[in-house]
This record gives sequence, structure tokens and C-alpha cells, in this order.
Amino acid sequence: MGEVPHSVPHSTQRGLPSPDLFTMKHLLTTSLVFIGILCSYTVLSIIPNTNTDVDRTARVAVVTGSNKGVGFATVKGLCQRFNGTVYLTARSVVRGQASVEELRKIGLQPRFHQLDITDDSSVNAFKTYLNDTHGGLDILVNNAGISFKENATELFSVQASETVRVNYFSLLKVSKALFPLLRPHARVVHVSSAFGRLPLIPGSQIRARFSNSELTVEGLNQIMRDFIEATKTNNYQDSGWPDKPYVVSKVGVSALTGIQQKALDTDAREDLVVNAVHPGYVNTDMTDHLGVFTPERGSQSSLYAALLPENTDIKGKYIWHDNTLVDWANGPKPAA
Ligand code: NDP
Repeated sequence: MGEVPHSVPHSTQRGLPSPDLFTMKHLLTTSLVFIGILCSYTVLSIIPNTNTDVDRTARVAVVTGSNKGVGFATVKGLCQRFNGTVYLTARSVVRGQASVEELRKIGLQPRFHQLDITDDSSVNAFKTYLNDTHGGLDILVNNAGISFKENATELFSVQASETVRVNYFSLLKVSKALFPLLRPHARVVHVSSAFGRLPLIPGSQIRARFSNSELTVEGLNQIMRDFIEATKTNNYQDSGWPDKPYVVSKVGVSALTGIQQKALDTDAREDLVVNAVHPGYVNTDMTDHLGVFTPERGSQSSLYAALLPENTDIKGKYIWHDNTLVDWANGPKPAA
């Protein structure tokens, strides 16, 4: 009994499995480990990064430049009327968090995230945060903007490049970063102005460039760069430019809206909508509090455009403060 026949492989003599059995077990173990790794990898890659206190199925709204003024009132209105998570964003963490606290005191629950629309790294960090935390975006209100005061001492060319950089190019930067996150039925609002109407550009040739139905974003960018370049000479008005950089920046925003809507119309995601709005003449820091509307009243058109129902026809439009549609390119100026 104790003898092991010669035919029995050596390894068996030491209580080890036969090479065949060994190979099979080894293969089985290796396969199981491999399948295990594959499964874990697959599960991990389909379960997005989770932020434990966030419901990733909840809808998400973002308002830029919302620590004060019309943007702050827009966040307030969205907290009251939008069924989802609302982000108050600001370039200053201190100012932004103080504004969030103000809304919390009246029982509203906005979230805060830092966002300087002129800063690539801030915009990209916010994009990554939104993607990792929520996986998408349902409402984007591009509200942040600047306007130099009448008595500003900066060179006109500096005012021109800075105004266009913030109001137009940075709004475009935010759009480019966040549009890929838009979910079906998302609503984007660009806060333009009554100054964002084309008739305020004196030169007919420049007006024709802005209203060209074939205009692309790159073509529009070139118009904005041409304006900045023209202001480096003293005769920019002779070429048909206005003496208000704010006008050019906001006409750019109104024009961009139509171009972007055309692109969104062919997007695989259903019912993506972008509109521009004029908030009215609003009592904010920007107007030295001379505006006649309260910030809440000024936020009416932004809220209207942000909360447009599914499959709305109102897209690529310019919406006046009373929620009526206005032809920004050719229409007469509506009553203030
Ligand atoms: P305010 O000056 O009161 O508020 C502007 C907001 O934009 C502030 O929160 C400001 O932040 C923010 N902002 C400025 N630059 C940046 C930046 N680089 N990154 C992020 N946020 C920034 O203006 P309003 O509330 O009056 O204006 C809101 C929007 O409405 C603007 O686009 C404006 O052009 C437009 N508008 C306003 C009208 C009015 O009558 N008030 C009329 C027509 C249009 P911070 O506090 O840090 O400066």
C-alpha cells in the first residue's frame, strides 16, 4: 500500500496534484482572479465617482456671477422654483459663501462652488467637479458680467479688451467647457442686455457681419478681435464701431446665442436650448443702484428662459425683461 507505482507522477508521491490537475486548478484560479479583476474594473468604471451626500439623479442648475445682483436673485428664484440642486458660483469664495449663508437664513439650500469665468483653471476645475459629482447639467445661466463706469480712468482700449474678454470670450469659454455636460432638455441662458441689440452698432458693414446667417463662432470671435484691435487707434468710430465696449460685448452675446442654438439643434442630445435675455434696468452695483427694477424683477427673464418647458419653440432667441421675444438684429427697441 505504501508503494507508489512508478506510473504515478512524482509530484503525486509528495501529496501534490498531478501536473494536469495542477495546471487545470492553476488555470481556474487565474481565470477566476482575472474575471474578478475584470468585474471590479467594469463595475468601477460604470459607477461614477460618488459624492455620498449628493443624489446623482437630481437635476442641476448653475448661475455664474451670482454672489450679488441679478445673479443672486436668479439663484434665489431657482431655489424656490427649480426641482433640483442649485449652484451659486462666484469668483470670490468669501463673497460667494456669504451670499449662500444669506439664502440659507431664509430657508433656501443653494450649494456653492468657486468660479471665475475668466480663469481657465477655475472653469476646468468646476467642469470636473460637476462631472464627478453630478455627471451632468440641466440649467446654465451665464450671468457674470462687467461694465466700466462712465468715469473710469483706464484707457479706452483697455476697457474694450477687458469688457469683451469677460462678457463675451469668458462666457464662450464657460459654454465650451460646460456644454458637453448638458443633459437632454437642458436650458442655457446668456444674460445679454438692451445694449445687446444690433442697431446700436453704427457701422452698416459691421452690422452686416454680425447678422450674417452664415456666421460661425470663429467668425464672431474675429469680429470681437477686430473691435479690440480698432480701439487701439483713435479713429475706431470712423470704421463704424460704437464708443461703448459694453455694446459690442453684449451684441456678441446676442449673436452667439443664435449660432450656438444652430449647433445644439443638430446635437444628439434631445431638446437643448439656449436663449439670450435682457433683465431690464436693474438696481444693482453695476448701475450704481440707479436701475428701476429690483434684482428679483430683473431675474424674471433669466428664470423664464431657464425654466422653459420641454420641447419649447423659444430657442436661439433674445428675450426682453417682460418675457416677450424681441428681434435683437432688426427689430425696433421695445419700451424700456
Ligand atoms: P453686478 O455688478 O451687480 O453683478 C455682477 C456679477 O458678476 C457679480 O457677482 C460679479 O462678481 C460677477 N463677475 C464679474 N466678473 C466675474 C468673473 N470674472 N467671474 C465670475 N463672476 C464675475 O451686475 P448685475 O447683477 O447688474 O448684472 C448681471 C448681468 O446682467 C450682467 O451680465 C450684466 O451685464 C447684465 N445686465 C445688467 C443690467 C442692469 O441694469 N443691472 C442691464 C442689462 C444687463 P464680483 O462681486 O466678484 O465682482
